Amino acid sequence: MNVNCNSTCLCGAVSVSATLKSNAIVVCHCTQCQRWTGGGPLYVVRAEGIVFHYDDNIGLYHASQHGERGYCRSCGTTLYWSMRGKSPQFLPVGLLEDQSGLRVKEEIFVDYRPSWLSPYPGATQSTEAEQLRALQDYLKKNQ
Ligand SMILES: [Zn+2]
Ligand SMILES: [Zn+2]
Repeated sequence: MNVNCNSTCLCGAVSVSATLKSNAIVVCHCTQCQRWTGGGPLYVVRAEGIVFHYDDNIGLYHASQHGERGYCRSCGTTLYWSMRGKSPQFLPVGLLEDQSGLRVKEEIFVDYRPSWLSPYPGATQSTEAEQLRALQDYLKKNQ
């Protein structure tokens, strides 16, 4: 699956173009994402060549030591999460106009999944401890 995506935030001040490399949705249940999205997890897809236009309208928030959250300063739309200072590799599913063919393949921070939300059948499940171990490995490799 190699899909070009062009979209904008809610108010249109920021537009984005990117190429989706797979149909896999990653679901993050961490409490930061729950607050950021306003309820429920953050649903993202991996993408390459993500370019934001009018990016002086993007606000950045560092909710944790390593993460960076981008949002539209005018309308508050969730634009991306990335490692601090790195270019974004994930796009929120809600920015995609065509979501056909996408499937939830991976759930992370499942220890924080709210009790009213069931696991997605067939999706891999990983906990906060597993994610933090993966982050440490990543940081060691990318020093
Ligand atoms: Zn906006
Ligand atoms: Zn999260």
